[in-house]
Amino acid sequence: MNAPSILILYTGGTIGMVENHETHALEAFDWEHLCDSVPELDQFHFRIDAVTLGKPIDSSEMTPEDWILMARTIEENYDHYDGFVLLHGTDTMAYTASFLSFILEGLSKPVIITGSQLPIGQLRTDGKENLLTSIEIAAARHPDGTAMVPEVCIFFENELMRGNRTTKINSEGFSAFRSYNFAPLAVAGIHIDYNTREILYPERRNDIACYNILRRCNGGMRKEGLNVHYNYDNHIAILTLFPGISEEVVRSVARADGLRALVLQTFGSGNAPRKQWLIDILGELKAKGVIVVNTSQCEFGTVEMGRYGTSLQLLQEGVINGYDATLECVVTKLMFLLGNGCSTEEVRQLMSVSIAGEINVR
Ligand code: ASP
Repeated sequence: MNAPSILILYTGGTIGMVENHETHALEAFDWEHLCDSVPELDQFHFRIDAVTLGKPIDSSEMTPEDWILMARTIEENYDHYDGFVLLHGTDTMAYTASFLSFILEGLSKPVIITGSQLPIGQLRTDGKENLLTSIEIAAARHPDGTAMVPEVCIFFENELMRGNRTTKINSEGFSAFRSYNFAPLAVAGIHIDYNTREILYPERRNDIACYNILRRCNGGMRKEGLNVHYNYDNHIAILTLFPGISEEVVRSVARADGLRALVLQTFGSGNAPRKQWLIDILGELKAKGVIVVNTSQCEFGTVEMGRYGTSLQLLQEGVINGYDATLECVVTKLMFLLGNGCSTEEVRQLMSVSIAGEINVR
């Protein structure tokens, strides 16, 4: 087997930050500085190249345009590398990972996203470990040369997680991410232990029908290998319920100009108060073709509409089951589906199937 080759895409985040001497705030800095802090990179006896995507930024400032640039860079370099490592701030990393997992159809190479809680130039940094192990995972192959993990993943603090299953849970500790409803795809200890039973190898995917629906909608043609879907629509709102939430507030969100989808963060297994005004608002949204997806405020477990009387009315008003998806996953999946010209019915249908291993449909 030839030696692997890896492309690092640097976007910013704490991993490459330095302190601004005037404000004392951390700010994203350049790749050269980051690279100088990791002389260990020379110990990999294979090709590692790096590219900086625009100006390095704090990931709180990311937009879908930045995700598109990442996908474009992967597509342009796809045939020249065996794997990709994306260095990214932790704040919105789970959104980036989820979005990329949907738009990179036919991915057969690893895209490992990582970052750190402490800048790589600091003594106790977690950045080196995260970066070096991510490179190792991106380069890992089976004896037949195929990628060990041909998925978009987040690697953080010894765990490799499916990207669209991951949420940032900690702004202080090194263990910053969690995949609540799906087992890690690998655990790094003395050895890197891959969970090959769960990794989504190309032959295990059943996403072709979904992508064919998109192509029918947007007139695209399927080519061999990687197909990237660059369209998106961000006319989405998130509404978190709480006891006593007012009709006026819900109504103003529901009436937002151009709204195409509303993510409703409900209680427990997908429950909401049985207020007539809420039922009316949901009915109006349905009549306007606005999609409403039910996700739970509970991180563990799944939405099960109809289990309690307090979710029956949601079912009756055509609210879609978000199952065990993360919020980041639901938002980015909607952006992706709505951007590709599907009808409301098609979006509803595709929200209820797993495209990239993001939900477990009961
Ligand atoms: N604010 C930083 C960012 O998301 C936090 C981090 O990287 O850990 O870019």
